[in-house]
Amino acid sequence: MGYLDDMNELGHEQVVFCRNADVGLRAIIAIHDTTLGPALGGVRMWPYKDEAEAFKDALRLARGMTYKAAAAGLNLGGGKAVIIGDPKRDKSEALFRAFGRFVESLGGRYITAEDVGTDVNDMEFIFMETRFVTGVHTAHGGSGDPSPVTAYGIIQGLKACANERFGTDSLQNLKVAIQGLGNVGFHFAQYLKDEGARIVACDIDPNRARRAEEELGVQIVGPDEIYDAVCDVFSPCALGAVLNDKTIPRLKCKVVAGGANNQLQDDRHGDELQKRGILYAPDYVINAGGLTNVYCELEGYNRERALRMTRGIFYNLRRVFDIAKQVGIPTYRAADRLAEERIGLLQKIKRTFVPPQFRRRMFTPVD
Ligand code: NAD
Repeated sequence: MGYLDDMNELGHEQVVFCRNADVGLRAIIAIHDTTLGPALGGVRMWPYKDEAEAFKDALRLARGMTYKAAAAGLNLGGGKAVIIGDPKRDKSEALFRAFGRFVESLGGRYITAEDVGTDVNDMEFIFMETRFVTGVHTAHGGSGDPSPVTAYGIIQGLKACANERFGTDSLQNLKVAIQGLGNVGFHFAQYLKDEGARIVACDIDPNRARRAEEELGVQIVGPDEIYDAVCDVFSPCALGAVLNDKTIPRLKCKVVAGGANNQLQDDRHGDELQKRGILYAPDYVINAGGLTNVYCELEGYNRERALRMTRGIFYNLRRVFDIAKQVGIPTYRAADRLAEERIGLLQKIKRTFVPPQFRRRMFTPVD
């Protein structure tokens, strides 16, 4: 199959191959769907073994962003970029500025941000060449590190899970097992502590585990023991694919709700959780706080607005659970349906022509 066949299969609009041999740039920008707005998604830097692997990853990640933005109620489409290279070795000012010029050339159809292998310093170089970049440092009027807002969103989502499973929004005394005490996991633990929850957690990095133990009084267990923890909620906040054939039979929780991306190794693992009576909060719905935060940057960042919009995750998850029950499908499928329905409906309002100067962006109404 060729590149266009792959795009066709996943429904992509556009893929841009970018090259500047003088600075060693080889990048791919994938735009999946711009029905709802400009395609926003981070730029990943990774030593892909070849361009076919990079292309596949860009396509898969861009499509994921379409669903995430749509389910979050944002006026954004889905896109993602990948730079082929080793982030430890190959970064330079010229590389990121060259990439920024390609982003600028798309005129706002694609907006970039940080992702695996890139950080706020790299965004500064991109920012020198284009306005179409988010996750810029607060010193430049950007929103800075998104992880506290991501964690705040997981708390809102967890309240919706508690409501669904235990009949109360309160997280008081809930026992939560957190896998990963990095940027998201640590802030999440902090919020949980304020809510009166009990926490057991792990991290493969002993320094991170110790910090959570000392600063938050979190009970620490070994990285492999976390799957066996007797708890109400298992919260993956580290890597993807942690819900699989080996781990699911070990879980002793009633809810899975966490910040990590791509938690299900395969779709069938979402079915398996449902069969076992474990309520799964679809990852891209519950971890949308970070995306919501950078979205707010597009109109001039305001923390209050970012948090207010992030509280919408509570209602988005309730809607997912309602669809799952009404249609009789697992929650991960209900999330896809929520996203697809919104894209389908909002496509229809575009029948009415409105001159561009009269349009304004609409923020999601919550509380
Ligand atoms: P991070 O790198 O700061 O933290 C990840 C932590 O997990 C690290 O401390 C690492 O040592 C630990 N870890 C790795 N493997 C582990 C294992 N097997 N067991 C226990 N701990 C392990 O990353 P982050 O920004 O906190 O992101 C965490 C997850 O959330 C990622 O999947 C990321 O894609 C997703 N996510 C992050 C954001 C955000 O705002 N940062 C937004 C949406 C989704």
